[in-house]
Amino acid sequence: MGVKENIERVRDKIAKAAERVGRNPDEIRILGATKKVKVDRIRQAIDAGLRLFGENRVQEGIPKVEALADENVEFHFIGVLQSNKVRKAVKYFSAIHSVSSLKLAKKINAVAEEMRMVYPVFFEINLSGEETKSGFSLREFMENIEELSSLKNIKPVGLMTMPPLQEDPRPYFIKLRELLEEVKGYFGRDFKELSMGMSDDFEIAVEEGATIVRLGRVIFGERE
Ligand SMILES: *Cc1c(COP(=O)(O)O)cnc(C)c1O
Repeated sequence: MGVKENIERVRDKIAKAAERVGRNPDEIRILGATKKVKVDRIRQAIDAGLRLFGENRVQEGIPKVEALADENVEFHFIGVLQSNKVRKAVKYFSAIHSVSSLKLAKKINAVAEEMRMVYPVFFEINLSGEETKSGFSLREFMENIEELSSLKNIKPVGLMTMPPLQEDPRPYFIKLRELLEEVKGYFGRDFKELSMGMSDDFEIAVEEGATIVRLGRVIFGERE
């Protein structure tokens, strides 16, 4: 199956999932997760109407961002971010989904201040408590929330999570949606995005309120 057909199928599934719960499908954006995907395949996705993409590694992402600079598309950063890569991430990507600690938020804030910008971020929440997963634990997030909300050069736009692989993802998606509601007051009216759902569970994520689903394999095929 080609990229275009895959996208059409995914769009249809998103529309049906949205319909099941009375949501408007236009509220849901597809982010094409393009790790290990070459530029020509990304172009096929652009031709099929995709406008948002995500990369996991700064070094892998930059050449793609540059190659597609003339297209009307946006690249977000969705991978684990080391502090020495923050400057490049902020320069080449238009948002970061994986802000996983106060330290990283402060670093992004400092870089954005230098660049005289207010930079959109998502806070990644580790809701399962798995040690191997990155993200704020719920406790860390709540303990640092005032300080996070005081950083003037980041604009928090929402939350991101990745449920544990072997479990029913639905409770995690519900939890993230409830957390967004709970903490909205700290971050203002732009804080409304739920970045959740991947190839195996995006329909469930849509049923539970996702506004951005991050899709790799279901659009571009299996990665090597
Ligand atoms: C790879 C990746 C995705 C997409 O995963 P698929 O299972 O291929 O849809 C989504 N989010 C993150 C953070 C990823 O690294």
